[in-house]
Amino acid sequence: MTTNESQLPFIPFTRPHFDQETIDAVAQVLRSGWVTSGPKLAEFEATLSEYFGGRPVRCFANGTATMKIALQVAGIGPGDEVITTPISWVATSNVILSVGATPVFVDIDPVTRNIDLNKVSAAITPKTRAIMPVYLAGLPVDMDHLYSLAKEHNLRVIEDAAQAFGSQWQGQKIGSIGDLVSFSFQANKNLSTVEGGCLVLNNADEAKLAEKLRLQGLTRQGMDGMDVDVLGGKDNLTDVNAVIGLHQLKQLPAFQARRSALARQYFDVIRSELKTAGLEQLKLELPVENFSDSNWHMFQVVLPLDQLNVDRAQIMTELKDQGIGTGVHYPIITGFTLYQKLGYQTQSTPNAQRIGRSILTLPLFPGMADEDIGRIARTLIAILKNHLKN
Ligand SMILES: *Cc1c(COP(=O)(O)O)cnc(C)c1O
Repeated sequence: MTTNESQLPFIPFTRPHFDQETIDAVAQVLRSGWVTSGPKLAEFEATLSEYFGGRPVRCFANGTATMKIALQVAGIGPGDEVITTPISWVATSNVILSVGATPVFVDIDPVTRNIDLNKVSAAITPKTRAIMPVYLAGLPVDMDHLYSLAKEHNLRVIEDAAQAFGSQWQGQKIGSIGDLVSFSFQANKNLSTVEGGCLVLNNADEAKLAEKLRLQGLTRQGMDGMDVDVLGGKDNLTDVNAVIGLHQLKQLPAFQARRSALARQYFDVIRSELKTAGLEQLKLELPVENFSDSNWHMFQVVLPLDQLNVDRAQIMTELKDQGIGTGVHYPIITGFTLYQKLGYQTQSTPNAQRIGRSILTLPLFPGMADEDIGRIARTLIAILKNHLKN
């Protein structure tokens, strides 16, 4: 176990949890003689389909491949524009570029930190083909608003729900409604297959195309027939990963309950600690307090950098020295060199510019202890107090 100056155990910002049953199931697959895509994948896809109310589901090697294939299934390519958010994992816009389309970045709502749907209409051009929203930290956008925009402008929706497995919209699971919905099962996500992803599709034709695209464009006929009629990649999910997913799915309700309980404690403890420290004027921005829709993939605060004499990196360093791991999810995508070279400007999305500089992910994962929340909140607030501008 890593220790630190305070000699308390180090708390990472997240940590996946695989129980003994999962480990045993993986060993069984490894011994079975069939380790790549096979019966466990088929079982995982069927279970996911049931979970999403019977919609077709196909799995892929990772969330990035899942989103790229979603764009291909929607027929998006060169000359097309896709509207998305500048505050996401760069995979979101990278996949738009990788199919030859153009990402169009719309600013975020500073409260939800998701794409501001009120600003989408102004970004639509005759080339716009799709909207790709991201549910940051697992908080969905207003789905009624999203799909009314899509309907009005005749656009496809590719939901980057990478962080939103288990999230809901008005009592319905994200993925059980909507157009193409993409999830990631990467190690940090609420449900993990180590690496992996799944796409919820609309019909059997789309599912068939997704199957081809994940394996070289291949279709088989009879005993020995093979054909390739589209260019596909090598993006299949293995049975080793799929069996992990099957076991994670069983534990999801318990994971979810624990995440929500920990998030509630963050709100309570941060507010009471701010009061105790006499820091009610500190503009530390907390997440939307949504316990019906969000899966609490992350608990993120926005630092009041205007009120501080240090930057985010210094706050992170001091937290790390106290044994607390944090993360940045995410810096603004349009600030990256590749995107700057393509002509994007961070100033055109001022909310994203500010939040990309000052957002901070605090530890949140099911294996955390209740006491960890108090320790993290007290340490963060003491550090902020220490660095107030006078
Ligand atoms: C994790 C993530 C992805 C990509 O998933 P991978 O499985 O890592 O390829 C895409 N978008 C968002 C918002 C994510 O958090």
